Amino acid sequence: MVDVWNWQLNRKMEYKYDETRPSKQVSAVFDINKCIACQTCTMACKTTWTSGKGEEYMFWNSVETKPWGSYPMGWDVRILDKLGSQPWDTNTDPVTFSGKTIFEKVPEGEEVEGWRPDDMDWAYPNRGEDETNEIIDKSKYHLTLPHAIWNFYLARICMHCTYPACVAACPRKAIYKRKEDGIVLIDQKRCRGYRECVRACPYKRSMYNHVTRISEKCIFCYPAVEEGIWPRCMRNCVGKIRLVGYVNKPEDSDPKNPIDFLVHEKKVALPLYPQLGTEPNIYYIPPIHSDAKFLKQMFGPGVDNAVKIYKNMRNGNEPELRGVLLLCTSTDKILGKFAIRSDEAIGYDTDGNEVARLPLVESQIRRVFHDSEREVYRHNIT
Ligand code: SF4
Ligand code: SF4
Repeated sequence: MVDVWNWQLNRKMEYKYDETRPSKQVSAVFDINKCIACQTCTMACKTTWTSGKGEEYMFWNSVETKPWGSYPMGWDVRILDKLGSQPWDTNTDPVTFSGKTIFEKVPEGEEVEGWRPDDMDWAYPNRGEDETNEIIDKSKYHLTLPHAIWNFYLARICMHCTYPACVAACPRKAIYKRKEDGIVLIDQKRCRGYRECVRACPYKRSMYNHVTRISEKCIFCYPAVEEGIWPRCMRNCVGKIRLVGYVNKPEDSDPKNPIDFLVHEKKVALPLYPQLGTEPNIYYIPPIHSDAKFLKQMFGPGVDNAVKIYKNMRNGNEPELRGVLLLCTSTDKILGKFAIRSDEAIGYDTDGNEVARLPLVESQIRRVFHDSEREVYRHNIT
């Protein structure tokens, strides 16, 4: 084990290999507040990549209802249980993770703390759909935030981690992180199906094909990315919750890069379970209506700040943030930069070409309530 820097933990941590970051790191931000669990992303991925034999159960992109839903069954609860309570030191700025990651709290003879799901754990990709955190008691049902009764939808793909647990665990060195864009891939010729990656990945995004007897995972649609195009799940998002680009380290943050702006400048987009230690590269804007304690366990101590800024935006402030979020699924080109000009949000690809331009406020037409010509009253007037 060697010491590597994990900025999400604000400290060094132990990892199997030296820190070697790619020249660019693909990344995406998912705004959970807008996900409607339509599963269009899931089916876009399924029909593109996993329609073959042995892949019937596989969903490289899945959307689960929190707090109860999970695919495979209990993926997060089981690794959190194994690690036990893990604290953050909030006396430092930024806060520092003072617990142990999956690379540091490891059983004798293992590279990574983990567990291997059995076949039945993969059998219910959408169990618990639309279940709330508790049974609805109408006397508690009111419209103040956060809601007493809540649920939210968590869309997940492979995190293309900076410190992938799957890479650390593979005895064949069959999994690698591409130097040019940070996408994590399994070399299908080298893999012998030992399933160490399936056991190690804390997000359970590596899946075993019982027919070919090798493991498979999300490839971030790298043939599209090589052309500057978004992955299929991102392009097809109905709720327009997703934004694709490249993320820098905090010290190299570019305020005009939309991902850096959301992650490092506004700090409104947070990593999923950063305490696990893999430095995941998909970021989430947490839901503003749910229990803060639950969200902090899931997205780390930055939740209060993220929710405050997002609510502020909804109240008509933060025009820059509003503009960047309008660019979600507004184009299929990977965004390098953005600009906000008077009343428009503009997105540029990585070559600096303009690929999206949207008004910050949609124009509205208001019809008169009483139409004297037809002697009718209209209720839907905007
Ligand atoms: S999410 Fe899992 S499969 Fe994906 S890179 Fe990280 S450890 Fe590997
Ligand atoms: S397509 Fe978008 S809105 Fe629909 S489930 Fe997927 S992430 Fe959510």
